[in-house]
Amino acid sequence: MQPAHLYQAPPDLLAGRNILVTGAGDGIGRAAALAFAAHGATVVLLGRTQAKLDAVYDEIVANGGAQPVIQLLDLKSAGDESYQALNEAIVDTLGCLHGVLHNAALLGPRTPLEQYPTAKWLEVMAVNLNAPFALTRALMPALRLAPEASIVFSSSSVGRRGRAYWGAYAVSKFGIEGLSQVLADELVNTSAIRVNCINPGATNTAMRREAYPAESPASNPHPAQIMAAYLYLMGPASRGVTGCSLDAQGG
Ligand code: NDP
Repeated sequence: MQPAHLYQAPPDLLAGRNILVTGAGDGIGRAAALAFAAHGATVVLLGRTQAKLDAVYDEIVANGGAQPVIQLLDLKSAGDESYQALNEAIVDTLGCLHGVLHNAALLGPRTPLEQYPTAKWLEVMAVNLNAPFALTRALMPALRLAPEASIVFSSSSVGRRGRAYWGAYAVSKFGIEGLSQVLADELVNTSAIRVNCINPGATNTAMRREAYPAESPASNPHPAQIMAAYLYLMGPASRGVTGCSLDAQGG
């Protein structure tokens, strides 16, 4: 089988599919929203900054994509009620959900655990781990209505092997790997929903530039250049693949 990062998606890969992307206004989420729409999907753009979501919306429409849906939500503070309302709105307006890319995340401080501020720890956990759990749970009805569906969580190399000073970010990504495995195992024999993680690898985004200020941004690929594995996981080529953790840049 061809590795996911070399997957060549047909132009109509996601035609007729509805896919929600968190953190869709910037970085990898923005690139994924554009790529999914370019391959035929109707994309639900979830994020916390209206102007950024509007810009992605306009770009999708200008490129001839299906009219997206904007969902303004701050994952730090949103609760079950907002997520359930979103599930109902998706069922009412789109019928069902074929995919979720949990992409939004915060880097948080990179500092020794001894000095790590508790408030920041809780904030990073809320956005990076608790929100993907609560949002996934709330969206299960919409996902179960689809003939098949794909849930993709965003991991990191520090979510597989701990590294000094990466604090709550690293621990949240370990949690994401665990969440993905538990959910995949629960759904594998009882549903047509597959659940996987993806580690984008070093990618030229605001988060990467914040984490590595001394690095030349151009030394890493643009988010649009790492979309093959994201398309692979969202489309039917990954049917039967579940409980895995892939690398968007190979590895
Ligand atoms: P960016 O910081 O560039 O983008 C993060 C996105 O998440 C932004 O759209 C941001 O919105 C959104 N977001 C952050 N907090 C919230 C919140 N509270 N509510 C809603 N949306 C929020 O990150 P990347 O694109 O680099 O990262 C995407 C994913 O890939 C993350 O899960 C990250 O951990 C992972 N990753 C990235 C790597 C890299 O090298 N870039 C390497 C390994 C993993 P806004 O723009 O409005 O702030």
